[in-house]
Amino acid sequence: MSENWEAGRLDSDLEGVGFDTLAVRAGQQRTPEGEHGEAMFLTSSYVFRSAADAAARFAGEVPGNVYSRYTNPTVRAFEQRIAALEGAEQAVATASGMAAILAIVMSLCSAGDHVLVSRSVFGSTISLFEKYLKRFGIEVDYPPLADLDAWQAAFKSNTKLLFVESPSNPLAELVDIAALAEIAHARDALLVVDNCFCTPALQQPLKLGADIVMHSATKFIDGQGRGLGGVVAGRKAQMELVVGFLRTAGPTLSPFNAWMFLKGLETLRVRMQAQSAAALELAQWLETQAGIEHVYYAGLPSHPQHELAKRQQSAFGAVVSFEVAGGKEAAWRFIDATRVISITTNLGDTKSTIAHPATTSHGRLSPQERANAGIRDSLIRVAVGLEDIADLKADLARGLAAI
Ligand SMILES: *Cc1c(COP(=O)(O)O)cnc(C)c1O
Repeated sequence: MSENWEAGRLDSDLEGVGFDTLAVRAGQQRTPEGEHGEAMFLTSSYVFRSAADAAARFAGEVPGNVYSRYTNPTVRAFEQRIAALEGAEQAVATASGMAAILAIVMSLCSAGDHVLVSRSVFGSTISLFEKYLKRFGIEVDYPPLADLDAWQAAFKSNTKLLFVESPSNPLAELVDIAALAEIAHARDALLVVDNCFCTPALQQPLKLGADIVMHSATKFIDGQGRGLGGVVAGRKAQMELVVGFLRTAGPTLSPFNAWMFLKGLETLRVRMQAQSAAALELAQWLETQAGIEHVYYAGLPSHPQHELAKRQQSAFGAVVSFEVAGGKEAAWRFIDATRVISITTNLGDTKSTIAHPATTSHGRLSPQERANAGIRDSLIRVAVGLEDIADLKADLARGLAAI
């Protein structure tokens, strides 16, 4: 019996192994039962051996779990697996992707600080800054994602944090992460990357120079549309502050969802590669169709940042957006004509999804905010899953025939 049979194979055994091995094995701690799959610890609290043990654990003098708002073994396994995949010193899980963004800002910024958020971020991210964080004295500006000169010009003496999504949702714009990290560091600011659309399987922002990477685990990390979660990863110095906020404020991840995400990570790279390949094929096909005015996909040579995407990512992702001739009415007719693809705003699922961003994910933005984000009424977003590509193409052809 190997020495570490009880503990399972520990991170120390995994030194030097590849991404896929980490995705399948990192972070697992085997219990004395010898379970092969990851154990799920559905418990809110933990029993102490004595009053003195309880006091020592609460004081942090003895390691061990106290309460699942602080630590939970299943959640920790997920955190360690993500840290391994992103190349981070530490990762911390959150109840959702939005909770991850909130935790980053609440733990690293104070009233009077200035944050730069790329113009094309997820709709709720803009709402979080505009409706809530501004009320607590956080100043926010929104430079256009790809324009490094605009980022330079947007800095103020109190700029603390830069927040970007690359590629962006739903228009697949990119920013040169390494170049933006240099700009941030020259001004003593931190660069945060929402890596939801690529996942560490296609892009590792920390290795490009970003300080913090975050995810909505709800999307590709789960991969099968089962539950909500998020994660933040980076250096210990910053992660300790994020952990402190989460333990106190409470938007921590449930162990059940952590367990689902552990299983999701095991197939992440294979799914990302297959879904990206299918998305590329559909994007190429859509670009040749009458009735399609524009296709937004960084895998197309017509995309203005195609070369950057090839350099920065190992594939182009599973999300394809396009504009149809005929505005909102035509876009809705296209969507309603599909039979296989699900009409839902979620993405990152094995089931392909189709949505009209202007009236759903970005519907709560003002018309001005929507125009700033480049979301037109004619825009449709498809997140490609794992169905037969011929069936997906036939479904999109039904949509085209309906416009
Ligand atoms: C969905 C999403 C979020 C928010 O995540 P939730 O898990 O829904 O809270 C943040 N960023 C991006 C890019 C997303 O797609």
